[in-house]
Amino acid sequence: MIGIPPCNPEKLNSNNPEAIHAGWLLDGTGAPARRNVRIRIDQGFIQSMRPADPPSGKDRSGVLDLTGHTVMPALIDSHVHLFLSGTGPPELRRRQLEAEFDAAIDWIRSHARACLQCGIAAVRDGGDRRALALRFRRNHEMGNAPLHIRAAGWAWHREGRYGRFIGRPVPEGSSLSGAIRADDSDADHIKIIQSGINSLRVFGRVGPAQFSLPEMREAVIAAAERGLDAMVHANGEAAVRMALKAGCRSLEHGYFMGEENLRRMAERKIFWVPTAGAMLAYTEAGALGGNEAEVSARTLEHQLGQMARAGELGVPIAVGTDAGSPGVEHGRALRRELDLLIQAGFSIEAAVCCASRNGARLLRLSTLGTLRPGKRASLIAVPGGVAALPGSLRAISLCIYDGVVWGSSVKDGGGEG
Ligand SMILES: [Zn+2]
Repeated sequence: MIGIPPCNPEKLNSNNPEAIHAGWLLDGTGAPARRNVRIRIDQGFIQSMRPADPPSGKDRSGVLDLTGHTVMPALIDSHVHLFLSGTGPPELRRRQLEAEFDAAIDWIRSHARACLQCGIAAVRDGGDRRALALRFRRNHEMGNAPLHIRAAGWAWHREGRYGRFIGRPVPEGSSLSGAIRADDSDADHIKIIQSGINSLRVFGRVGPAQFSLPEMREAVIAAAERGLDAMVHANGEAAVRMALKAGCRSLEHGYFMGEENLRRMAERKIFWVPTAGAMLAYTEAGALGGNEAEVSARTLEHQLGQMARAGELGVPIAVGTDAGSPGVEHGRALRRELDLLIQAGFSIEAAVCCASRNGARLLRLSTLGTLRPGKRASLIAVPGGVAALPGSLRAISLCIYDGVVWGSSVKDGGGEG
């Protein structure tokens, strides 16, 4: 139907050099798309990437002809909650919020699988109260499936404040940094909830910060002592300012953070994960009361404005969907987040870079993010030219993860079936 031969994993894994002919190539760095590039793959590694004419005649042998396709790095979702589905009946959400590991495992597996089907090779989990995603990662519950999972375990929040469903409160008598130091889990990063969520009733209203600047500073130091980065949830000027001054690695959401904070992030090269699709999902939710639909639409507009400004200032944006949030579906949500970056004025090259190179840098996954000779082949192909993106991600034609063909002609809709 899309005119490519079925992928043969053995062929691509053989010792013989094999090649892919890409009609268009996005290398993940944000550089302009290139036309007609021959990618040679040897033992799962990219050997060379050179301009070439589309294959014809004898030249076809051993070449996977993707002349009518765009090839790009496998994608990265820098903010998910694997324990929640995001969509489905309210009853499902209630069960997922209460589930113990054995009950949650199939859900988590299906969400992880949905990511792979949507071209996503790595996710960073922002936490769940029981640290289910971390345990899932630790137990290798995916078997050989090639999804890289970075998990926080649970998020830390202040007792009585926002964050109970994805986190644990700092124990009474302890400090945030003390709690981080006392935790001996094998978490991949530390998640801190530094503010509430912005109001859906009053435009621009955000709650106060949960932790003071000295508390945040100590917390980032405590995380660093464990060799871990801090992923900080914050909205509003004050809460975001403290997170940035404290030296967090990434700032999550950042609604209404303001110009000064954007400049600070650009200067210090702190990653921003705007999760605008979560707000888009609120604007689409049918059952909103009062003026919530209007407020969420204005909030989304405002966030898109901040994203546009971030692009001008050179803030490193990493694409994160907050999948698991109401209305935000694992895997497919990434396409919507790319759409929103484009709405905010990003080129497709720049948007893909946010979901590939920037994500790989944020997660410190050096094997992913860009396509260049010497790197492991982790790439996807979509039908059509660059202009067909991000919509063409609905019909991914090829996924190679960690040098191995994982699937081909994957159709959207296969996610959680
Ligand atoms: Zn989140």
